Parts: sequence; C-alpha cells; structure tokens
Amino acid sequence: MFDVLAVRTPTLPPATHTNCYRLGDCVIDPASPYPEEQERLRRWAGPIRRVLLTHHHADHIGGVDALVAATGAEVWAHADADVPFVVHHRVADGDHVDTGAGVLIALHTPGHADGHLAWQLAGTGEVIAGDLVAGEGTIVLLPPEGDLAAYLASLARVRSLAERLWPAHGPPQPAALADQYIAHRHLRTAQFVEVLATRGNCTPEEIAGTVYASVPGANLTLAAAQVRTHLAWLRAQGRVSERANGWGLA
Ligand SMILES: [Zn+2]
Repeated sequence: MFDVLAVRTPTLPPATHTNCYRLGDCVIDPASPYPEEQERLRRWAGPIRRVLLTHHHADHIGGVDALVAATGAEVWAHADADVPFVVHHRVADGDHVDTGAGVLIALHTPGHADGHLAWQLAGTGEVIAGDLVAGEGTIVLLPPEGDLAAYLASLARVRSLAERLWPAHGPPQPAALADQYIAHRHLRTAQFVEVLATRGNCTPEEIAGTVYASVPGANLTLAAAQVRTHLAWLRAQGRVSERANGWGLA
C-alpha cells in the first residue's frame, strides 16, 4: 500500500499539512515549499524515478523543484495542469504508470482544479484522491476553474471505482464519503435557491451571509466564491440568471 508523509504547507485552514504519497519509484504531490520539510521529504522518498501530480495548486507542488533537483526524477502531470516547472510527461486519462510496486492508473477528475488527476492502484479499490475529498477541512471550488458539474461527475466516477480514498489532507476515507459530498453539494444548491426564492435577487455575498450564518468559523469570502460556482452551474441549467442587482431565479 501507499507510504504517506504529511508535510507542512501553506494550505487552507484548518488543514496545515498536505499528504505526499509514495509507491515504488514514484512520489505523488511533493507539496512543501519549506526547505526543512523538503529535506525531510527527500530523505523519506529515497531514490525515485517519477514525481506524479494530482493537480497544480500551490499546496501540492511546492516541493517539486527541490525533489527533482535532488533525485533527477521526471515530472508527470495532466496536460491542463498549469505549473511553473518542466513537465516531462503529460498524462492522459487511463494512462498506466508501473511503479515497480504496483501499477497506478490515471483518472482525469476535474472540477476542483483543471487537469486534476486521481490515481488508482490497479486491481484494487485504493485511490489517491488529491483534492476530490478531504479527511480534514473542506474542498472548495473557486472561480474561475471551479466547475460543479465536472466535480460532481468526478466524485461519482471515483465512487464507482474506489473502496477507499486517500486524500491530500487528513487520513484515508471510505469511498462512501464521495456520496456524502455529492449530497452536500445538492443540499447547498437547494439552500441557495431557497434564499433567492424567499428574498428575491441577491448577490453571492448576501446568499453566503444567509446560508453560512450558522456555520461556525465560516470564511464568508470563500463561501461567496462557492456560491458563485453553484450559481454558474444553475445558470448553465437555465435555473438562475445574473442581473444588475444580483442573481435571481430564471
Ligand atoms: Zn487543490
């Protein structure tokens, strides 16, 4: 099974660390930009041949340069991953990587990030899930790349393939967590629609202030961004529209 090393990263609170995974000669998401953490990661990784990425967010790629410089490893990432370093191999959905300790299958799972990949250990229900789900904290879908339709489809896909999800933050989770995430997104969507139905046109900030008022410690800036992503999904279905004074039901 996967070796896991959690390294300190500039990630979204309450999470403080990102999980780096190792299988055979591959390390997935060498994440930390901090030199002392990069050194710890290098010693843990040992000789490796490839760095595989789940996605391009800063709390997943901060240690790529340092690990590549130390090991000579190649970087493998999806074509849509926008990263500030050389990618030696652009991964497509279904690609196989023989790590020497098992084969990893790339699953293109966008929605949280363009070019997001999950990695399934072939012949098993074990899936490295990146930021599809979290064992600690929450997953945010931020404009412009956050895409709720794609995210829901990605969750459904890993749910159909996985027994256990290995997230980037926090401990492994049963794959049924993906069902809870899907249900939660639909619940939030219904709550946002309810606000528009009862109050008329609203801005995303007003919707967030209403729905997240009861959520302890909610970050209303991030919450409003989530609302925008949900509204974009509803607009694509013709259920809401954006007007001069906010969003309203279509
Ligand atoms: Zn992310």
